Amino acid sequence: MEENKLYSPKVLKGVIEKHGFRFSKGLGQNFLIDGNVVRNICNAADINENDEVIEIGPGVGTLSQELCQRAKKVLAIELDDRLIPILKDTLSEHDNFSIINSDVLKLDLHKVIKENFEGDSVKLAANLPYYITTPIIMKILESHLKIKKIAVMVQKEVAMRIQAKPGTKDYGALSIAVGYYSKAEIALNVPRNVFMPKPNVDSAVVVLDIYGKPRVDVEDEVLFFKVVKSAFAKRRKTLLNALSSGFISLNKEQVKNVLERCNIDPKLRGEVLSIEDYAKITNTIVKNRL
Ligand code: SAM
Repeated sequence: MEENKLYSPKVLKGVIEKHGFRFSKGLGQNFLIDGNVVRNICNAADINENDEVIEIGPGVGTLSQELCQRAKKVLAIELDDRLIPILKDTLSEHDNFSIINSDVLKLDLHKVIKENFEGDSVKLAANLPYYITTPIIMKILESHLKIKKIAVMVQKEVAMRIQAKPGTKDYGALSIAVGYYSKAEIALNVPRNVFMPKPNVDSAVVVLDIYGKPRVDVEDEVLFFKVVKSAFAKRRKTLLNALSSGFISLNKEQVKNVLERCNIDPKLRGEVLSIEDYAKITNTIVKNRL
């Protein structure tokens, strides 16, 4: 029944008026007003009745409503305490919905999953607050949680960077960091006019299929990310210059030696190297105790 769907602009306006709610720009509050996009996020996450779902930033419950209809359980994490009574009202008919009123970046997500979910099919779906998209995605990936699939709406530019391939202009440290943990794909592009209020940017839904173990074997994960960060810190520099002036405390001679052992031309730029190349560089540094 369309008349009680929260993505209907009329229903959303009614909820906002009833509760005297005012949007907070600072909290990235742009709520969805398009049923197709809501359904497509659920399709992208492949939500079914066996799934236990974490949703970050439910707002008034627009995406949650569809998730509750498809999943076994939905646990939403919302920072804005003004939205908690609203959610209790809008989703009152769904007894598989619960809320944690907290900043997702401050939560121990291992504990949250352990205390709230029982099965092995945990997924994450969200229309993320744009001011903290990357920290949220990286926190979830780096925590090695029991999550199989993530489908999140992010700013289009961020989505392009996440799924970029070596040698393209969007390829960078974020593409490698996300690609280390998961296979990333853009499921759909979303124009700015399907949100209330309308944001200044377009969006896209990215799907991350989390690998059982990271895509490459690295002997030292911290060093791996330092190598990547160094290579992209100054994009115009050659690998030799970027790595020797970066975060890994090796001099030019040592970097040259490592790259020679890896069969990588020191005059190349970081943007053409694959995740496998960065793993090789890291492991060569570790093996030679440089
Ligand atoms: N899911 C809703 C929808 O699609 O209509 C709302 C999405 S809105 C883009 C982002 C939501 O994230 C807002 O409800 C906002 O209050 C919430 N939020 C912002 N920062 C947060 C944080 N650090 N932790 C949890 N939720 C946050």
